[in-house]
Amino acid sequence: MSEPLQPSHGDYLRDESRRTGHAEQIVFPRSEEDVLAALAEARANRWPVTVQGARTGVAGGAVPEGGLILNLSRLTAIEAAGDTLRVEPGATLNAIRAATPPGYFFAPDPTETTASIGGMIACNSSGALSFLHGPTRNHVLGLRVALASGEVLDLRRGRDQARGRAATLGAWQGELPALPQPAVKNAAGYFTAPDMDLCDLFIGAEGTLGIVTAATLRLLPAPAAIVGLMMFLPSTAAVVDLVNALRAGRTASPAPLAALEYFDSRCLRFLQDRAAILASKGIAVPALPPGAACVYAEWHAPGAAAAEAAMLAAAEQLPDLGANPDACILADNPHELEKLKLFRHAVPELVNAEIDERRRQHPGIIKLGTDMSVPDDHLADVCALYERDLAATGLDHLIFGHIGANHLHVNILPRNADDYAAGRELYARWAAQIIAWGGSISAEHGIGKLKRDLFRQMAGEKAIADMRKLKQHLDPTGLLNPGTLLPAP
Ligand SMILES: Cc1cc2nc3c(=O)[nH]c(=O)nc-3n(C[C@H](O)[C@H](O)[C@H](O)COP(=O)(O)OP(=O)(O)OC[C@H]3O[C@@H](n4cnc5c(N)ncnc54)[C@H](O)[C@@H]3O)c2cc1C
Repeated sequence: MSEPLQPSHGDYLRDESRRTGHAEQIVFPRSEEDVLAALAEARANRWPVTVQGARTGVAGGAVPEGGLILNLSRLTAIEAAGDTLRVEPGATLNAIRAATPPGYFFAPDPTETTASIGGMIACNSSGALSFLHGPTRNHVLGLRVALASGEVLDLRRGRDQARGRAATLGAWQGELPALPQPAVKNAAGYFTAPDMDLCDLFIGAEGTLGIVTAATLRLLPAPAAIVGLMMFLPSTAAVVDLVNALRAGRTASPAPLAALEYFDSRCLRFLQDRAAILASKGIAVPALPPGAACVYAEWHAPGAAAAEAAMLAAAEQLPDLGANPDACILADNPHELEKLKLFRHAVPELVNAEIDERRRQHPGIIKLGTDMSVPDDHLADVCALYERDLAATGLDHLIFGHIGANHLHVNILPRNADDYAAGRELYARWAAQIIAWGGSISAEHGIGKLKRDLFRQMAGEKAIADMRKLKQHLDPTGLLNPGTLLPAP
């Protein structure tokens, strides 16, 4: 049973978006039955329910706006069976990795390893390795989902599918709407397709259609050899050329290219300026060429020779781009790879810490972090757009992200309320242009409560109305995660 919210529960009113909400009740289920009991209590009291995993989301989806917080962080069981894992929703990515049998790996890797699998499924999260392996969706074999009514769906990929667009989900039978899906990396809105696996409807739905109470995950054979390379380039034009060349050579490469990541020169300086903080956390900052931007590439191969050949082929292209191959940082063993990973993860973490510091003086500001993707042929355009507008406004910022998918996070760090207002204006202008290019306003973080208006622009009124109707079929009283994903009518 739920308990009234106490001051000691303050952390549960926030997520990593740094937005703070409010709620009256909170419950920490320890079983699916507890989840169903909490739903019954919410229905009886007409409490809206906000579902929470680990609250690492950055779009405010787990931030309550009144009613009951249903926090799943105590549902953490993990059971390994061959090349699959059966998990409860509160299991963290760290715990999943620890429970993965030797010889296998779980590919989805949102940088934040304290994220829960329920949250990852709800946001269809992705990370560096999604370049090769796709987002969380591609690694889910089945789901158990509690609907607002208390019905539990047991959906298995390959078994439980729509017929054309006709679907049966518990007591509801009907047609799934045709919704626009941009041809880019995308985590915005519901996913539907003819003959779809019905579990896919709940993946990426941000907890608005049902609560994931268990999942079966697919493990992949661990690659025999992994090589990572940090390459430093003199200009954004050289970065774009390298990315395009590596993507074009992908199929001919001796080893699959698994990740292609970007850090602008500001990120590198930001990390160097905080070397002492990082050292206190056991993270070493390597020597970084001043003024250069960085592309990190990682190859997963059946053997060391293939991985090394792929890495050398990339490094050979650097002189033509004005870059020095000898300045590269190579990681070819688990220890070195982990060091580079920690270093890369430090960027978003330290940005959040910096924003917290600034908020002490200017409580009205929050980080403005973009999550937009564009088609391949607009990568150079979007880089130019960001750089031109940021230079014109003088806003403090840094840019990093999954450049292999044309998906960059511009992090604007407002120094005061005026900066915040100027940053919001830029964000809206960029979104309009990116939508016009056929891109997505959210490639991996989801819409949450922060991007509903941008999502309305991207999806259009008809698609929003169709999504709202679909939600009404599965959640007639709007119990689950009201205020998330769908803009108010
Ligand atoms: C430093 C940092 C780096 C990050 N890097 C990445 C990255 O590279 N890629 C990426 O994709 N994300 C990234 N994120 C965002 C975040 O980690 C992911 O969105 C993650 O999947 C959220 O998981 P969570 O358990 O914290 O979910 P929460 O924040 O608790 O919830 C997120 C959403 O999922 C819903 N939800 C949670 N559990 C369930 C459930 N069991 N059933 C139904 N709905 C549920 C919530 O209602 C909410 O709408 C980053 C975050 C941080 C802080």
